[in-house]
Amino acid sequence: MQPVVLTRDQHGISRRQISENALKVLYRLNKGGYEAYLVGGGVRDLLLGRQPKDFDVATNATPEQVKGLFSNCRLVGRRFRLAHVLFGRDVIEVATFRGHHHSVNTSKHVSSRSKEGMLLRDNVYGTIEEDAERRDFTVNALYYNIADFTVLGFAGGLQDLEARRLELIGDPQTRYREDPVRMLRAVRFSAKLGLSISPRTEAPIKELAPLLADIPPARLFEETLKLLLAGQGVETYRQLQHYNLFAPLFPEAAEVMGRGNNRYGRFIELALANTDERIAQDLRVTPAFLYAALLWGPVETRTQEFVNEGGLGYHDAFMLAADEVIGHQVKSVAIPRRFSTVVRDIWQLQDRLTKRAGKRPFRLLEHPKFRAGYDFLLLRAELDPRLRELAEWWTEFQQANPVERQPLSRNARQGQDGENERGERKPRKRPRRRPRRRKES
Ligand code: ATP
Ligand code: MG
Repeated sequence: MQPVVLTRDQHGISRRQISENALKVLYRLNKGGYEAYLVGGGVRDLLLGRQPKDFDVATNATPEQVKGLFSNCRLVGRRFRLAHVLFGRDVIEVATFRGHHHSVNTSKHVSSRSKEGMLLRDNVYGTIEEDAERRDFTVNALYYNIADFTVLGFAGGLQDLEARRLELIGDPQTRYREDPVRMLRAVRFSAKLGLSISPRTEAPIKELAPLLADIPPARLFEETLKLLLAGQGVETYRQLQHYNLFAPLFPEAAEVMGRGNNRYGRFIELALANTDERIAQDLRVTPAFLYAALLWGPVETRTQEFVNEGGLGYHDAFMLAADEVIGHQVKSVAIPRRFSTVVRDIWQLQDRLTKRAGKRPFRLLEHPKFRAGYDFLLLRAELDPRLRELAEWWTEFQQANPVERQPLSRNARQGQDGENERGERKPRKRPRRRPRRRKES
């Protein structure tokens, strides 16, 4: 594990490209007598000429020693103990060099493995060489030394970066078993950075993909966001499918996918293309919209089944289906409640958007998630010609000024003749009258 060393004039990284907070941490550690390096993605991205998402620091100081140097420091993580140095909302992650598990007598409080070879705890400290060996990909085993501004590349990382090659360090089988999330990281880096996964690194993935079922759903939620909400969603999704990695993340979606000409697969790609475009334009994206799209197939399918086989009305069938689909999904990939409520809103709006008569469309415009529901309808209409007229109607309705809106909703009432867009006939209810509140004067 001898590193290739690039001196200051042999690489293009300058301190101006590194965040002020990361530099503060590096300098303070160094002044405190410790080794301090910028490590991993930060160095990799700078060498590729890209702006890193965050800066991670590696040091030979233990987490407790790091805490001793910074008052704004918090120790986190059990599986992998780390120091977080906090600067307002900016967090610099400081990791102590990891060592080999067999090299010291380890208690299970320090390091442990599951029967499948998964690392449950990784808190054995070591040297920079050992630390490099414990990293996932060679292009991530890169260190920028704040003491002399050299870049150290271990395990052929610098050559691989040059060749745009993604190569796992060590034996791929073992490394994926230690941490199956590395399979997702392989796909993510490949799609995001345009690196090709080397044959030996990609070989075991299809077979080991089911190991993802053992990863805590909360961790997979974070990973899924990084995979699908980072601007390369379509490409990433295709790779996930290619390597059998999609099914363990979204089992029900994968299951209904094959039905109806892979209609739902195309719908997911469309949603991701839309998301990628928004990210490219610096527009806001919400995980809820994406989850609504990913799980639309199962929800629509289950709703239909409950109507046809369970004899339920549409509304009840839908509510049951939504509960069931979200309930199953969170066993694989978590969906925090602040998002799952919005997912439900978006789905529920799909039915409400079919009701254009009377005051309803006016009230719907006030719905806090109207815009997301409408965007979702537009997306569905791209694949389903039967929805186009409805989608266009809503576009026009929103663009119209309040005076123009009245006749639009009146026409909708006449045209509709008691039938909603799903073709179901319903006896028209009398509009409920609300007692008007009298204004006190
Ligand atoms: P990005 O921040 O752009 O997503 P990154 O490579 O910095 O990419 P992080 O998750 O920030 O990824 O991790 C920082 C570094 O920690 C990685 O570059 C890698 O060296 C190491 N690392 C992260 N996760 C793992 C893992 N599961 N197994 C081994 N090493 C890992
Ligand atoms: Mg990083």
